[in-house]
Amino acid sequence: MTRVAVLSGDGIGQEVIPVAWDIIGSLHPEFDSFEVEVGYARWKKSGVACTDDDITALKEADAILFGAITTPPDPCYRSVILGIRQRLDLYANLRPVKGNGFDIMIVRENSEGLYSGIEWQEKDRACTVRVVSVEGSRRIARAAIRLAEERGCHLTIGNKANVIKSDVLFRDICCHEAAEAGVSFEACYIDSLALDLLLHPASYGVIVTTNIFGDILSDVAGYLVGGLGMLPSANIGDRYALFEPVHGSAPDIAGQGIANPVAAIRSGAMLLEYLGHKDDAIRIEAAIQTVIKRGIKTPDLGGMATTQSFGEAVKAELGI
Ligand code: ATP
Ligand code: MG
Repeated sequence: MTRVAVLSGDGIGQEVIPVAWDIIGSLHPEFDSFEVEVGYARWKKSGVACTDDDITALKEADAILFGAITTPPDPCYRSVILGIRQRLDLYANLRPVKGNGFDIMIVRENSEGLYSGIEWQEKDRACTVRVVSVEGSRRIARAAIRLAEERGCHLTIGNKANVIKSDVLFRDICCHEAAEAGVSFEACYIDSLALDLLLHPASYGVIVTTNIFGDILSDVAGYLVGGLGMLPSANIGDRYALFEPVHGSAPDIAGQGIANPVAAIRSGAMLLEYLGHKDDAIRIEAAIQTVIKRGIKTPDLGGMATTQSFGEAVKAELGI
């Protein structure tokens, strides 16, 4: 029995995840799904956004589909998704960016870097410790190298080793692992890489980088494919896996039924591929392409479709 946990979360997460799950669940009615309520709304009611029991439940799932969670500007509120990523040790954040003539996989280190959580406020300054460990760098390097091998492509190591000492370690370990594995690789400074990625996307295959650089680079890469509403992601560890759109809860458009569900549907397709149903993932992607080509698009892509009607069109295309 395949168990899937579904966490819509806040904002547009509550609109795009039901549409994505409707498609996945219709293709696989045999999946046993369960919902877990986490997020800001829950926090307002109970003072906790995600409990130990929730984490235990998530650990019982074979895969998790996650929407987005609003992080309010309250200093006592701890980011739920950061907590989940850490407690399930989802150290690799895979963010594919695929378009006409390019097929890029951004591999973002997901467990340390500037998101180490080691930070404090002093009287006249605030400090965040950027942790880059040998083991953390090695395991993300190996995950990226495996992907480069599978795809038969080049590996780019995004870093800022010219300025930041912790990136010297990251770069050197990635280069060492890539050389050992015999994959073709190159180390690039993250700032010039961000520009070159937009100018020459076809030159890139797998890009591995540290936590915040990977976050920013993938949003930037959204420019190549029509914006944040299009980008899915996977958070993978050695035991657990969580799939979520790259975008957040987008409070500005929440509640209007106009959020683009493509990122969420594609995240669901990545979940299916992870569970061994690559053929379904390919069918879903083809259906999304066909629906968009027919002019059915949400407003962020210049169309008039709603979240719901786009999802219905994809289902119709899939014959489900
Ligand atoms: P959060 O703090 O949860 O990340 P945010 O305000 O940063 O929220 P994002 O979700 O990161 O918002 O998105 C940034 C902007 O991109 C949003 O304001 C929204 O206009 C647009 N956007 C993001 N996702 C989508 C989507 N699925 N469909 C349409 N527009 C989107
Ligand atoms: Mg955001």
